Amino acid sequence: MALTRQTPLTQLPGVGPARGKRLGKLGLDTMGDLLNHLPVRYEDRRECFDLRDAPEGRPCCVSAMVAAPPQISRVRKGLELVKVKAVDHVGTLHLTFFNQAYLKDALRPGETYVFYGIVGRQGRIRTMTNPVFEREGSGRHTGLIMPVYPLTAGISNNLLAGLTRRAVDECLDGLKEFLPAQIRLEHALCQTQYARKHIHYPASYEELAVARRRLVFEELFVLTCGLSLLKERRSRGRGAVLRGMPEEFAKLLPFVLTDAQRRTMEELAVDLAGGRAMNRLIQGDVGSGKTVVAAFGAWAAAKNGCQCALMAPTELLAEQHAHTMNSMLSPAGIRVGLLTGSVKGVARKALLSALAAGELDVVVGTHALFSQDVVYHNLALVIADEQHRFGVAQRASLAAKGGGMWRQPSRGSCEGSETGPSIPDKVDNDGVFSPHVLVMSATPIPRTLALIIYGDLDVSILDQMPPGRTPVSTYVVGEDKRGRMYAFIHRQVEEGRQVYIVCPTVEETDPAAEDSAKAPDLKAVTSYAEQLRDRVFPDLRVGLVHGRMKPKEKEPVMTAFRSGELDVLVSTTVIEVGVDVPNASVMVVENAERFGLSQLHQLRGRVGRGTHRSYCVLVTSSRSESAKERLRVLCATNDGFQIAEEDLRLRGPGDFFGKRQHGLPQLKVADFAADVALLKEAQQTAVELISADPELENPAHVRLKDRVRELFKEHADLFN
Ligand code: ADP
Ligand code: MG
Repeated sequence: MALTRQTPLTQLPGVGPARGKRLGKLGLDTMGDLLNHLPVRYEDRRECFDLRDAPEGRPCCVSAMVAAPPQISRVRKGLELVKVKAVDHVGTLHLTFFNQAYLKDALRPGETYVFYGIVGRQGRIRTMTNPVFEREGSGRHTGLIMPVYPLTAGISNNLLAGLTRRAVDECLDGLKEFLPAQIRLEHALCQTQYARKHIHYPASYEELAVARRRLVFEELFVLTCGLSLLKERRSRGRGAVLRGMPEEFAKLLPFVLTDAQRRTMEELAVDLAGGRAMNRLIQGDVGSGKTVVAAFGAWAAAKNGCQCALMAPTELLAEQHAHTMNSMLSPAGIRVGLLTGSVKGVARKALLSALAAGELDVVVGTHALFSQDVVYHNLALVIADEQHRFGVAQRASLAAKGGGMWRQPSRGSCEGSETGPSIPDKVDNDGVFSPHVLVMSATPIPRTLALIIYGDLDVSILDQMPPGRTPVSTYVVGEDKRGRMYAFIHRQVEEGRQVYIVCPTVEETDPAAEDSAKAPDLKAVTSYAEQLRDRVFPDLRVGLVHGRMKPKEKEPVMTAFRSGELDVLVSTTVIEVGVDVPNASVMVVENAERFGLSQLHQLRGRVGRGTHRSYCVLVTSSRSESAKERLRVLCATNDGFQIAEEDLRLRGPGDFFGKRQHGLPQLKVADFAADVALLKEAQQTAVELISADPELENPAHVRLKDRVRELFKEHADLFN
């Protein structure tokens, strides 16, 4: 049978419907899929040793003849052993297989086999347990660098390796090169067929490195091309002209803007007044004052008679923002509304009709802001706060929601704006608009990653804290200090302060807890709160919020804490992002070792927001020195970017780069820690290419464009 990359795997001998289904679970349906299913590691099975010379303690191949029929013994119920004696010209090898009775007939006395496994020794006899084996000379699983693939139940590595071998041998021919020749030459990259063949079956580690290098480059290159294309496309959309000067807005505030805030607002002002749809990210550490910058955008929209939607990742945050926006903007006559999932019935109806009629200027909410029934009158600006929870797809759908035909009213004064830089004289504001999009991230992200994750955005950085902040003193403590810690909390409350105690718990939105099977469940958090209330702090007012409480239940607790009616707030990571209670001065994190450093940094950012000296106590019962060492990074620095770099180094990019968080295609080959230089090379090349050929229209780029489209197939509409 002639195989092609489109051939379904179920047409191959040995792959029935059941196996087909299991392979499907790995994302493998066709021969072509196999080519993209890359090994996670390799086993060097090239060298075959005599029994006498075989190195001990590491896997290797030995060749030996089966000397006697295999013996089966049943040790106890559920444990069967097959024992086999094999020999070569100088030595003896005793093989033991667990629960593989069928091997009795697979290993024939008198035949020579190659066994791959860890060699042990009993006296002068060599031993091996559960080795891989094949008849000498067959060369399928031994005598080579063996690829080891990601597997699933019922699919062995040998099966996959066999299938992939066929794919590599028979399906590579038609595979066309899609990297432009120029780029391939400049960066010394091998051809696509070579790379795909040798990433599976390298004859040497040098070949493997060559293949891998090309694939890493290709992966980042195509991804960056896609993001740059998105950026190009979107920046061509027309945006409403929103004129407004930061100085004028600043008059509404009880404090003076930091230089970073002013600079960022100016960047925003230029974008907003430029007539093109803005796509901007503000990266600022916790507490750097992003909300005010958002308020500036909202103010500018309202002042020009347009609407602004501000989206927060949780209802808690949405409520808090609505509150802040209202107190900042209502003195300027700006009307602010709140729309979350729990605004229902009459209230919701009233709000929706006000939005549709243009009687609300700013609406703050959760994803509910973009549900089907929400109609805007003239949405000109969309702001997403704590953006790391929103991905590329959401950004795109936000933009789609606001776009449409409407006429920008001329309301309010635009005086003063003429002094602003690069503002066009006259812009026709009738017609189809894309809303301006502003996203705000409190998770500092290492530069390399930021370029990828936010490759479709312009970036402003808020790298300055409002004045009067003292850094939060951070301590890592063990169980032995628990008593002292409670006493310390007591004293702080006596001084009028408030305290957060955060526990990890398994929640959908909680990446840190997910991989820790031991994380206390919900009951643990609830009972811990009770214990604190009843026994530890009977004289204090202790509240509890967790992620599974309904917003209606959470809200009164948060309000009470915010207004100082609670002393201690026990919570899960629902308070991780954004919550702003300046009087809180202590952040205790239980089981701190279960969190990522960046997440801990976020939590710590909940305190030190007022004028009071603040503390972060990371409690861990972990005995592992490396776990403690990791936590101590937080004691050493308050710089979110530095912490993020460290997190990347220690935990890999998963936390930053999970699909769930960013909606970006998964990277298969590239390793952010190891491939930094190549990463940069690929990014840079892609950005240059897209700026030279923004639509990839050059005939030399046709196949590349197809690749980009394929990679972003979930966003197909964006790459027509
Ligand atoms: P984040 O960047 O973490 O979202 P916020 O916007 O919540 O930070 O601001 C943190 C706190 O700092 C708020 O209480 C806010 O009112 C205050 N703040 C923001 N900007 C300034 C400033 N320029 N001067 C003084 N306080 C400020
Ligand atoms: Mg914030």
